[in-house]
Amino acid sequence: MAVSLRPLTLALTKGRILKETLPLLARAGIEPLEDMAKSRKLIFPTTHENVQLVVMRGVDVPVYVRHGAADLGVVGKDTLLEQGSDGLFEPLDLGIAPCRLMTAAPVGFTLPHRRVRVATKFVNVARDYFAREGVQVELIKLYGAMELAPTMNLADMIVDIVDTGNTLKANGLEPLEEIAAITSRLIVNKASMRSHHGTIDALLAALSEAVRHSEAA
Ligand code: AMP
Repeated sequence: MAVSLRPLTLALTKGRILKETLPLLARAGIEPLEDMAKSRKLIFPTTHENVQLVVMRGVDVPVYVRHGAADLGVVGKDTLLEQGSDGLFEPLDLGIAPCRLMTAAPVGFTLPHRRVRVATKFVNVARDYFAREGVQVELIKLYGAMELAPTMNLADMIVDIVDTGNTLKANGLEPLEEIAAITSRLIVNKASMRSHHGTIDALLAALSEAVRHSEAA
């Protein structure tokens, strides 16, 4: 078994995913030594001597893990679909932060007789989806508040994350087609998987058991 010379670094997605990740980690024996919600720090030692946590935006998690700056990460499948999984293993569906990646448009929308303007931060996912559907689109990249784009006549439709649908409804939009069902995934750097396979295998087993336990609860 490979001996770990440095702690493994696990990159976590801040916000809703972080809140749902921490109980799973706790059950797997990994708890930050200080309250992450109250601290402005971004790096946290844990009760597991071989694991430290770092917190960042979801879009950055696969970047850190792909480059090996973090060994493991927790990130939404939406982000993985958008960025691709090169250099990463995706061994575990954590089943947390479930939502759907969907198309949405103003209530009563019909396709115009011209290219459809689609606003989204998921341009790669949207490009593939509309190509499969045979719909000609002009993609408009946004970084947030996609729901605003149809109201402001920037776009005809959006591709966005939908959970309850309340955000869409509040902005006069309705969900149309589901592109993908989303949950958060554990990702692992491919080289770390080889160099730290003992620690990572043990971690994977403990997290799998934590997921099974929370699903049964
Ligand atoms: P809702 O109004 O419940 O449909 O939530 C929609 C908004 O919340 C979207 O604009 C998303 O940005 C965000 N959201 C909901 N669920 C998730 C999730 N699991 N992961 C990331 N963002 C989410």
